[in-house]
Amino acid sequence: MSPWLAAARAVGAEIAARHADDVDLRARFPAEAVTGLRDRQLLGLLVPSTEGGAGAGIADVVSICHELGRYCASTAMVYAMHQIQVACIVRHAGHNPWQRAFLRRLADGQLLLASATSEAGAAGDVRSSICALDEKRGRFTLVKQAPVISYGEESDAILVTARRTAQSPPSDQVIVVVPRSGVELQPQETWNTLGMRGTCSRGYRLTAEGEMSQVIPVPYADVSAQTMLPVSHLVWGALWLGIATDALGRARAFVRAEAKKRPGETPLGAARLAVAVNELQTMKSNLLACLRLYEAAIGSVDGPSAISLAVAMNNLKLGSSQSVVKIVGEAMLICGLAGYRNDSPFSLGRHLRDAHSAAVMVSNDRISANNATLALALRDDLEPLA
Ligand SMILES: Cc1cc2nc3c(=O)[nH]c(=O)nc-3n(C[C@H](O)[C@H](O)[C@H](O)COP(=O)(O)OP(=O)(O)OC[C@H]3O[C@@H](n4cnc5c(N)ncnc54)[C@H](O)[C@@H]3O)c2cc1C
Repeated sequence: MSPWLAAARAVGAEIAARHADDVDLRARFPAEAVTGLRDRQLLGLLVPSTEGGAGAGIADVVSICHELGRYCASTAMVYAMHQIQVACIVRHAGHNPWQRAFLRRLADGQLLLASATSEAGAAGDVRSSICALDEKRGRFTLVKQAPVISYGEESDAILVTARRTAQSPPSDQVIVVVPRSGVELQPQETWNTLGMRGTCSRGYRLTAEGEMSQVIPVPYADVSAQTMLPVSHLVWGALWLGIATDALGRARAFVRAEAKKRPGETPLGAARLAVAVNELQTMKSNLLACLRLYEAAIGSVDGPSAISLAVAMNNLKLGSSQSVVKIVGEAMLICGLAGYRNDSPFSLGRHLRDAHSAAVMVSNDRISANNATLALALRDDLEPLA
């Protein structure tokens, strides 16, 4: 196990797990766990060593999200969303001096990054913006109605999408890195949801200003296709796997306890457990296969085509968001009333509520509709197996 994963496991088991129920109950930011991650230098993990970071890879972040997801899904989601933003800057900053200096600040101060991609009026279509940068003499201003910004008030900087200019069509977007000193957040929507309550994903009228060099020097279409979308689906898939893993861990402990009570008899839940373990294995295999695919895509010119990568990553999201709900549901049936109760060691209510966020966090219907278009152009018949 890498020292980073060991550190994340310690934060998960010793800090996040202890506060998870309170974070959920009060819909409050998991401050203790995020401080633990910051103290162990896990926020700047992806920053290259040339900029003072650990220079870790996406596989390390995926493993950590899975680990944290086993203890507190909100903590894992905050960490996942942060790392998606870091990955976008690391991969697309190029030689832009402002962006490179920001990466150094991120590593030094272990800054926490949030995102404002969703927009009121554009609903969940993050590849389309209404707001636009207003540029004057090398500086910009921007006003965005953001229906959801997770942990916006606790963040140190926010990545915001917008149209390139007021004349640009909705799809001609850029993404701009705005430190909190350049952002004003006027609260508009509360966050009282079924699950993922600790992400504190409130809505705001966001006003931002800064230098044009804060704009990532690559069109958002490319940032999204090459980094934001695949990394999102990998880290989300990992933390949903963590939720499912913990739920099945509780179900297994329940079946074991039943077996101890009645030696010689196979507990009723054992067969259901075996089926759920199979589903978990499929979920994990799919995640690992997509992780390898993504690593191949960023590591070589012969990697998978953009279309087959997009379809695979979309399928990962669709599949894991459904599997997590299914597996937690199976665990609930195995544990019965003990799983349904909110006050038992086998409680699964929080897992189930958190799991249901997966299908709406970028609507599965929207992703299926994208895949329906991409599938027509897919040439998977030409792709080698390995
Ligand atoms: C826990 C959590 C944290 C989040 N954090 C952030 C954040 O930090 N920053 C941020 O910007 N956003 C964030 N989001 C927002 C998220 O990424 C989605 O954009 C948002 O959940 C989509 O909102 P929606 O369901 O209202 O909109 P839509 O995607 O428009 O979906 C609404 C309905 O329309 C249907 N629909 C939409 N499009 C299609 C289509 N093409 N074909 C068929 N049916 C369609 C859907 O099935 C659904 O029923 C977060 C969401 C969650 C759940």
